[in-house]
Amino acid sequence: MTDASDIPIRVRPEIAALPPYKQGRQAGGDAFKLSSNENPFDPLPGVVEAIRSATAVNRYPDASAARLRERLAERWGLTADSVHIGAGSVSILAQLVLATSGPGDEVIYAWRSFEAYPWLAVVAGATAVEVPLTDDARHDLPAMAAAITARTRAIIVCSPNNPTGPIVTQSEFDAFVEQVPADVLVVLDEAYSEFVTDPDAVAGERALAGHRHPNVVVLRTFSKAFGLAGLRVGYAIGHPRILDAARSTSIPLSVTAQAEVAALASLDAEDELLDRVRAIAERRDRLVAALRETGWRVPDAQGNFVWLPAGAETLAAAQAFDEEGLIVRPFAGDGIRISVGEEESVDRIVRIAASVARTLPEDHLGARAGAER
Ligand SMILES: *Cc1c(COP(=O)(O)O)cnc(C)c1O
Repeated sequence: MTDASDIPIRVRPEIAALPPYKQGRQAGGDAFKLSSNENPFDPLPGVVEAIRSATAVNRYPDASAARLRERLAERWGLTADSVHIGAGSVSILAQLVLATSGPGDEVIYAWRSFEAYPWLAVVAGATAVEVPLTDDARHDLPAMAAAITARTRAIIVCSPNNPTGPIVTQSEFDAFVEQVPADVLVVLDEAYSEFVTDPDAVAGERALAGHRHPNVVVLRTFSKAFGLAGLRVGYAIGHPRILDAARSTSIPLSVTAQAEVAALASLDAEDELLDRVRAIAERRDRLVAALRETGWRVPDAQGNFVWLPAGAETLAAAQAFDEEGLIVRPFAGDGIRISVGEEESVDRIVRIAASVARTLPEDHLGARAGAER
């Protein structure tokens, strides 16, 4: 937290109270960076080639990234005005929160979930309403529905949930949306959808089918499965008028030409990229099984990361990983998120997790935050 009195100008007190953003340490030597859910594979040559071809950087990019919009509209079977491109899906989420929610309005999301959610609510001046996850680290959608008030303007559902891993099922999501007033935005944040192997999981395509619920907007990103985190490109699918409202809050021209052509080239190479995604999902399932063998109650993992519910021992456990060259993401008092990265990191993760497990009392292996489904 910054002490407001250290700032030479007057800033909004809720902004002064925000902790400064801290990025995970970069990996050096033989360390593995497993703290940001990045894709461990190098970009495909065709993608690098596309980026190299976009050199007219003296010109502003195409404001709406029209070629990418058209391309995505085609695959979703929608018109281009149902697609909105942003510099990362987080920036679109910020736009949607700004467009819907101001002082006195409420934004509901599960907790613990993606770190950006509370920050987005604060920046908009809205009130965050956090609904605790269930004992097995899943969204508690009935409790989220019960938290809706006349002041609710936006609800964020994250599936698979970052950082704990479980999905929301399609039937849970459908039942939930039925209970949300039609004028309240529901954002389905599917940053990790490509890694999902559970056939019961909610899918944006199904959530939008038939336009039954025009208040639902689906978010996808090229950062994770498609490996373009460094270029910043994501998208929203939803009702054109909702996307217009989001666009009205956005900083124009944020999506660079390089990001757009790299996303297009990635769609061209989708089969090859999805082979990599399958390899990561298979690696994830092996990792989860091995971690459970060591005693950790790892929740169902459907993204490209796993969750160790270390509770009060989180920081000490993260230190143990760090000392062995594994940079993980601790959430103090709650647990550790470990991205599924290079194959060579898997044995090392399991070895350290096993040695940490031996030092923990039985009830620290996730009795509270996580359990098998
Ligand atoms: C990574 C992530 C995003 C997307 O990030 P961008 O790089 O901004 O596209 C969105 N939501 C969640 C839950 C994420 O983990």
